[in-house]
Amino acid sequence: MSFKPLPTASQRVPAIARPHVSERAMKTLDIVEKFVDEECIPADAVFAQQLGTTISERFSAHPAIIEDLKAKAKKLGLFNMFLPRNHFKEGAGFSNLEYGLMAELLGKSATASEATNCAAPDTGNMEVFAKYGTEAQKRKWLDPLLNGDIRSAFLMTEPDIASSDATNIQLRMKKEGNDWILNGSKWWSSGAGDPRCSVYITMGKSDPTNPDPYKQQSVIIVPADTPGVTVHRMLSVFGFDDAPHGHAQISFNNVRVPDSNMVLGPGRGFEIIQGRLGPGRIHHAMRSVGGAEKALELFVARVNDNNKKPFGKMLKEHGTMVERIAKSRIEIDAARLIVCDAAIKIDESDAKGAKKEIAIAKIMVPEALLNVLDRTIQAYGAAGVSQDTPLAKMYANGRTMRIVDGPDEVHMMQLGKSEIRKGPAVMAKLAKAKAKSAELLKAHGLAKRDPLAMSKL
Ligand SMILES: Cc1cc2nc3c(=O)[nH]c(=O)nc-3n(C[C@H](O)[C@H](O)[C@H](O)COP(=O)(O)OP(=O)(O)OC[C@H]3O[C@@H](n4cnc5c(N)ncnc54)[C@H](O)[C@@H]3O)c2cc1C
Repeated sequence: MSFKPLPTASQRVPAIARPHVSERAMKTLDIVEKFVDEECIPADAVFAQQLGTTISERFSAHPAIIEDLKAKAKKLGLFNMFLPRNHFKEGAGFSNLEYGLMAELLGKSATASEATNCAAPDTGNMEVFAKYGTEAQKRKWLDPLLNGDIRSAFLMTEPDIASSDATNIQLRMKKEGNDWILNGSKWWSSGAGDPRCSVYITMGKSDPTNPDPYKQQSVIIVPADTPGVTVHRMLSVFGFDDAPHGHAQISFNNVRVPDSNMVLGPGRGFEIIQGRLGPGRIHHAMRSVGGAEKALELFVARVNDNNKKPFGKMLKEHGTMVERIAKSRIEIDAARLIVCDAAIKIDESDAKGAKKEIAIAKIMVPEALLNVLDRTIQAYGAAGVSQDTPLAKMYANGRTMRIVDGPDEVHMMQLGKSEIRKGPAVMAKLAKAKAKSAELLKAHGLAKRDPLAMSKL
């Protein structure tokens, strides 16, 4: 059968983003796409089987295929693309936007992010070490992380409090001589299940009586094998264990770490988590756009399946399906533009300067992903919710995006409040227009019938 070849990744870069993407990044995008399509996606099934079946097998496994993929990625120069060139000297020298476009491609495979050393939570943790770490901290933890030799976890969320408000964090850090003693519990510590996870970047309360609630918290480095650290269990997501990295519940019982493990200094925890999460949210968002593209590919494949003809017609001949595919394309393309805009804004300033754009992307992209996945699952009928397609796992993972790194409501509240703060300026602008309109009506000898002129504003 003859068909028109699909456009390549570099050809699909949105027009609005194109002027911001270097020639080198354009070439790399096509190399990433080829690597994901030809190496990683076929390897996903091997990875799943090499993990084993029992819980203990799955959380002690290190599937050999990952090391094969990592070696190939290194050879192609596809390693650590996530560290943006204008903020870090380490990394592959791409901007947030350029890496964002690559992250979309990585989001289509279960193995591609780790294969290119661009997997969460290591990416955010490496940014913490690179941005805030001392030279000694960088050599001990950043170097092996950048080389893909170890993995890491970020421990903020706790079981007994509402963690979406990080001022609630309770894990207690007390200074004793030149050490800090840690006591408390954490959960949803992603990555801590991996046998190679060697370090926990841990947030706790070091100064509970500080009148400024944003100065009570600190971030400290805890080697995973420190006495007093206990991993109790791995949590599942809609029944999926996400092995081998998983999501752990961990307790700290008189865990002693030296003062030299403190990041940036006591009381600077908020500064660190805010610096860490901005670009990370863009990475998640672009991987989600990739997931949505993958779902749409599966949707298109299903409606073209000649064996599936409900009521005598292929699915592509049913108008509802055509419209759902069109809606999916609109939502994916809109989501991508939103993320590209946020990434450009981060490149032009930093994560703080792109707060609004990041919040919009954080809320809107998972919604688009879940919509596309839901339509695709529907088109597959019962197969869509089974283990015979990747859709159920993709949906489970996609649904968590509305909770991780702060639930929708928190971003919605910040966004809404910042719009409302524009009130005085907006009202002044409307009043000015009304006054001008009254002048014009008078000059033209007309009555005040303009609705704007008649309103109270
Ligand atoms: C798959 C997965 C991986 C994760 N990985 C990590 C990790 O690696 N490290 C880590 O530290 N944490 C991780 N988390 C935890 C995640 O960041 C938290 O679950 C999240 O911040 C919410 O905190 P919480 O669960 O305590 O919910 P709560 O803070 O109790 O919030 C519960 C609900 O309250 C509502 N709510 C909250 N604030 C508002 C508001 N202002 N207005 C209205 N409603 C509101 C929302 O509906 C919210 O979902 C992960 C979670 C999942 C599911």
